[in-house]
Amino acid sequence: MPQDTATAFVTAAQAKTRPQRPHVAVIVPVHNEEESIGPFLKAVRPVLDGLEADWSVLFINDGSRDRTLDVLIGAMRDEARISIINFARNFGKEAAMTAGLDAVDADAVIVMDVDLQDPPELIAEFVRHWRAGYDVVYGARSQRRSDSFLKRFTAARFYSMFNKVSNVPIPSNVGDFRLIDRRVVRSLGELRERNRFMKGLFAWVGYPSMAVPYERPVRPHGETKFGFRRLWNFALDGIFGFSTLPLKAWTYLGLLLAVFAVLYAVYLTVRTLLFGIDVPGYASLMVAILMVGAFQLTSLGIIGEYIARLTLESKSRPIYIVENHYKAGDL
Ligand code: UDP
Ligand code: MG
Repeated sequence: MPQDTATAFVTAAQAKTRPQRPHVAVIVPVHNEEESIGPFLKAVRPVLDGLEADWSVLFINDGSRDRTLDVLIGAMRDEARISIINFARNFGKEAAMTAGLDAVDADAVIVMDVDLQDPPELIAEFVRHWRAGYDVVYGARSQRRSDSFLKRFTAARFYSMFNKVSNVPIPSNVGDFRLIDRRVVRSLGELRERNRFMKGLFAWVGYPSMAVPYERPVRPHGETKFGFRRLWNFALDGIFGFSTLPLKAWTYLGLLLAVFAVLYAVYLTVRTLLFGIDVPGYASLMVAILMVGAFQLTSLGIIGEYIARLTLESKSRPIYIVENHYKAGDL
């Protein structure tokens, strides 16, 4: 299975379609990030100013309970190219990115975190590759020194498992930090599923892609919003959202057990005929019952995961609710 979906092939014709002075929009999901917004804007501004492009920054305030919205409105008063989508509650980063992609109208869109773990300097390089014709340019974490051993280990296991079972491989050690072309944004807009594992959706739409390696720094302000439980659920969303293999695997396991059961039955019959009935067998019976029971419960649980997701999808609720979209003229 390919570990890297980067396609090296771009046509010169594609590069020619890039506008002379494009509009580059940056979308930034934020959740309880009052201390990070100032440093973020300070770092990103000079990079955007150096792009020879028109730019805008759209923050999606994902149900923050601190002063994030106040800080954002203050920033918007100073800079007309900033706008804010304020969610009615916390819908999660995936929903926030979706809202950003739905709202922007730009030639190239950059998705990045506010905590400066996605280095702003990379934006210039992303735009350069985009001008050369790539439709997707993503940052690949070359070393994950800023992550704990446990996180690195579980992440590596997750990517290798995901790529074994999913029909669209995702490159490992790639986050959401990326630039995407207008037409990729349009394609993503057609995917309205509620289970939004964005990395999977980005990979699913395809387009010529390019990876830019970088060293991910530690978070300078605030702390991560993704604890272990959230990451676990995120991983489940990824696997169950992009593969039906876990559902199908039970057929084969069941068949295997059945074959084993028939062989064992034959063996027991022959043995009984030859040597008579052998009464002891408590341990083997117990193991067999517990093991088959465990298989059944696990398979039921996996069916449950899919049914729960089907239930959510069938309700067709919106992916997010916007409380207000603040634009420069409004204040
Ligand atoms: N975030 C969000 N909604 C959430 C959780 C996080 O919009 O429910 C934002 C957060 O403000 C940050 C980005 O998503 O801009 C990445 O979050 P974080 O740095 O906590 O994740 P990590 O880098 O640890 O994976
Ligand atoms: Mg972070």
